[in-house]
Amino acid sequence: MAQGILVTGGAGYIGSHVARQLGEAGERVVTLDNLCTGFREAVTHGELVIGDTGDQALVSRVLAEHDIDTIMHFAAHTVVPESVTDPLKYYRNNTCATRNLLQCAAEAGVKHIVFSSTAAVYGLPPGGVASEDTPTAPINAYGTSKLMSEWMLRDLAAAGGPSYVALRYFNVAGSDPEGRIGQSTPNATLLVKVACEVVVGKREALTIFGTDYDTPDGTGVRDYIHVEDLATAHLDALRWLRDGGEPKVLNCGYGHGYSVREVAQAFERVTGEPLPVREAERRAGDPPTLVANASRIRELFGWTPKHDDLDQIVASSLAWERAPRYSA
Ligand code: UDP
Repeated sequence: MAQGILVTGGAGYIGSHVARQLGEAGERVVTLDNLCTGFREAVTHGELVIGDTGDQALVSRVLAEHDIDTIMHFAAHTVVPESVTDPLKYYRNNTCATRNLLQCAAEAGVKHIVFSSTAAVYGLPPGGVASEDTPTAPINAYGTSKLMSEWMLRDLAAAGGPSYVALRYFNVAGSDPEGRIGQSTPNATLLVKVACEVVVGKREALTIFGTDYDTPDGTGVRDYIHVEDLATAHLDALRWLRDGGEPKVLNCGYGHGYSVREVAQAFERVTGEPLPVREAERRAGDPPTLVANASRIRELFGWTPKHDDLDQIVASSLAWERAPRYSA
């Protein structure tokens, strides 16, 4: 039997899309998720083990029993504003739990790790565009908690531990084109999710945080990437590692940005209805612009996005919002 892939956080939004693509590609997938924000129904392939990445005995047992040689690590808290008010929650669940996972992985002889990192490691990059060589300077505990995990991976690999690819995600949105899984995270703060909730009547209006930024229309600009393309990048990373590729830290975005107003307009195009918005002050800690220089992942992996289209991203997010298979 081929060795298996452990997907931590595989019942969550991004992890479930990656696990689904892995399963469809014929990989043997085992999901480890404590279901604190994930959903049992999001696990479409392989076994679900309910538990915590920080539980050493459990992780070691799962690695041995399922003959795991690769870990894809998504389990994390991901709400940036919450990380500012409760930083230790983020250092415990993201950084300390990752340390535990890595210890278990090293002891079990795991060969490959693909790590879910974030553009938040860049903080406020000069000019709003970040390449992998841009200095890291996170401005919230979420970004710092992930950066510390990247460092552990780097140092462990240098000491003979698993090789790894860390993918720094920009703004992820969209859902499975076949509508089986999607983003059902409660108390959403992410723009596309919030706008979807406005469309279906869960919220009255989209609040635009800041209209006086130094951007073309005064609102914040981000690099929105479809979760299906992001998921494919993880399968590309797996191939890279299996082919003996060295450790890599790579941006995962499309390399171009849209403003909050442009996202709102995309919703109006897709629905054919006006999207109610209200304008408000800037949200603390938001950079004006954050866009990827994402040429490296294309060059190295031959990563080829198939859904680089804002209206498609919006339509697929909205399709899930209107017909979710599960929700909190
Ligand atoms: N944003 C907004 N209203 C919202 C949520 C987000 O105007 O309800 C803006 C936010 O200020 C930023 C962009 O949308 O400019 C993307 O924010 P999001 O929280 O989706 O992701 P982030 O880039 O902060 O990780």
